Amino acid sequence: MTPTDFIPYGRQFISDDDIAAVVSTLKSDYLTQGPKVSDFEQAIANKVDSKYAVAANSATSALHLACLALGVGENDRVWTSPNTFIASANCARYCGASVDFVDIDPRTYNLCPMKLADKLALAQTNNTLPKVVIPVHFAGQPCDMQAIDALAKQYGFSVIEDASHAIGAKYQNKPVGDGRFSDICIFSFHPVKIITSAEGGMAVTNDKQLADHMRTHASQGTTKSLDELTQNPGDWYYEQHTLGFNYRMTELQAALGLSQLSRLEDFIAKRHKQFEYYQVLLKDLPITLPFQQEKTHSSLHLFPILLPKTHKQARKAVFDNLRQNGIGTQVHYIPVHTQPYYQNLGFAEGDFPVAEDYYQRTLSLPLFADLTQSQQVKVVNALKQALVDCGMMEL
Ligand SMILES: *Cc1c(COP(=O)(O)O)cnc(C)c1O
Repeated sequence: MTPTDFIPYGRQFISDDDIAAVVSTLKSDYLTQGPKVSDFEQAIANKVDSKYAVAANSATSALHLACLALGVGENDRVWTSPNTFIASANCARYCGASVDFVDIDPRTYNLCPMKLADKLALAQTNNTLPKVVIPVHFAGQPCDMQAIDALAKQYGFSVIEDASHAIGAKYQNKPVGDGRFSDICIFSFHPVKIITSAEGGMAVTNDKQLADHMRTHASQGTTKSLDELTQNPGDWYYEQHTLGFNYRMTELQAALGLSQLSRLEDFIAKRHKQFEYYQVLLKDLPITLPFQQEKTHSSLHLFPILLPKTHKQARKAVFDNLRQNGIGTQVHYIPVHTQPYYQNLGFAEGDFPVAEDYYQRTLSLPLFADLTQSQQVKVVNALKQALVDCGMMEL
């Protein structure tokens, strides 16, 4: 097998226009802190109907900036989903806050709003309410934001949407990121995500104060804004007002991201076609296909299938079998609370049983913009063979 025969679970789709955009930026005056980053910010804000957008060098940085802007600190609690990438929880730890999780809905694999309601009621009696809740739009399917927003108003917490998977997704026919049901929403442009800037992330919000706070903290805590300076001795002058970071996006990243953004709808349409074709190819297999919630239009970042409950022990064998046959299946996600770092903070296996059961049975099949139908057939044939080899079906 040559490396090109290998079908990964996800990958970037770079066009000649993308390459030209990056090369022309390389030849321009600015590699950082030039016009492309603000163009990209404006384009994302327009695309998702938000007032402000702040670029960062990763979604992880953007999540950290969002927590800081919402005032998360040492005595605070932040809740998120256990079925996510570790960054959704780590951002709260960077601020010294404690992290807790809310188990997932067994159909959508997203944070379950009913379990959130129960946990909040209990936390209120114990005086342990969270300052921020971070729902994650897993696989690109929006969470039940209306329910989460109602709870946010009832219990007085802020909401950061981790939409790392979900740029271009819609909730109740409106773009994820429009801020109707959250304070800040975060996108990732890592190469496996829907569009890429190599590394990169963006925080969008409708609140100017939050946007300014994030922008200042992404750039060493400094400002050059005339209405903020305590004096103005000349054009060289800037002031540091707080302790920030260097979380800035480069011009090269922004040029790539901007060029990719022009094909966002096309990428998502392609993923939906592939999704439909998988439905056809996989219809007689003894697996659970991804459920699509009404009133949501997923960006379809991932295609997670579930093996039958009776065969969870066979997941490793199916995974290895597929990998040996050139199918780059992956597992999304190892429940965050079972990571040794989080176990050292007091979590244990068994704490969030729905996420754990899901984890033991899941495999993500390849899904990316330029995946071909013949590659999909190859994936499904390999999967069938693996299920036969592992005693889950007969041919
Ligand atoms: C990818 C991802 C992140 C982190 O994104 P980076 O841009 O790689 O920092 C955070 N949360 C989720 C759910 C992700 O999938």
